[in-house]
Amino acid sequence: MQYVNLNDGNKMPQLGFGVFQVSDLSQAEQAVSDALDVGYRLIDTAAAYGNEEAVGNAIKNSGINRDEIFVTSKLWVDHFTYEKAKQGIDDSLKKLGLDYMDLYLLHQPYGDVAGAWRALEEAQKEGKIKSIGVSNFAPDQLMNLELMSNVKPAVNQIEVSPWYQEHNEVAFNEQQDVQTEAWAPFAEGKHNIFTNETIANIGKKYGKSNGQVILRWLIQRGIVVIPKSVHKSRIEENFDVFDFELSSDDMKTMNSLDKHESQFFDHRDPAAIESIFGASLKALRN
Ligand code: NAP
Repeated sequence: MQYVNLNDGNKMPQLGFGVFQVSDLSQAEQAVSDALDVGYRLIDTAAAYGNEEAVGNAIKNSGINRDEIFVTSKLWVDHFTYEKAKQGIDDSLKKLGLDYMDLYLLHQPYGDVAGAWRALEEAQKEGKIKSIGVSNFAPDQLMNLELMSNVKPAVNQIEVSPWYQEHNEVAFNEQQDVQTEAWAPFAEGKHNIFTNETIANIGKKYGKSNGQVILRWLIQRGIVVIPKSVHKSRIEENFDVFDFELSSDDMKTMNSLDKHESQFFDHRDPAAIESIFGASLKALRN
């Protein structure tokens, strides 16, 4: 496994396993067990995914030493106040059945980010979280957080795939010494990504699938990547990306596929923010 060094001195595996949209808990537990069995040592969950307990069970039953597994979870916006964030951290720990998390992220850049971040800083001091970070933060939001807080985020987890490459955001994170982590590296299969001919032609040269080429392209960009699958054969396939290297021409060809547009929703669009997060944020006013 390849590791990256975080700005707080901790190390993080560069390839991990995500469990978004695996709401069936026995399926989530099985998928994480399979991933650990295959060799993944980074698991990415979130309070909002509703499967922290299943992730914790798989970790507990794996027999792997706790300090060999890098566990990430995330705080949802309905807990973005100082007090609620403290509770949210304890809830995540309890559901995971762990006494510390390796990385805990503010899932979104909305609401009382300052209050929630202060709770993360304190939990880090108390040893409940090793590294603290953010997700879906644009460069100005990241800068704002850096300027107003004592601890710089170690990680910014953002959407990065061949269709939405985010070169400027990744460069900004790097300049700030904040590790970029890519969510939805396969754009959840949109635009037939697994059969795209340009990617397939690159893969043929190395005897690799489209998924493997995509993960390799992200790894060579210095990004941490967390593909999701509930099929063991794909979990294995997605892990088998450390025995080849894309040439600089192939990296350039991959870079040419950018559609410059989120494949899900624009995190800076006020209407999207209101419709997706409005109810949770308004509820926090009371
Ligand atoms: P993804 O990893 O881009 O795509 C997952 C989809 O690809 C699933 O439908 C999976 O199907 C399929 N797949 C996986 N490997 C494959 C392969 N080798 N060949 C063919 N199909 C394959 O999408 P994601 O789950 O949204 O993103 C990954 C992780 O990022 C999440 O699980 C989560 O941990 C994190 N995430 C974070 C945020 C955030 O806001 N911070 C947002 C989204 C996701 P099967 O499962 O049926 O195999």
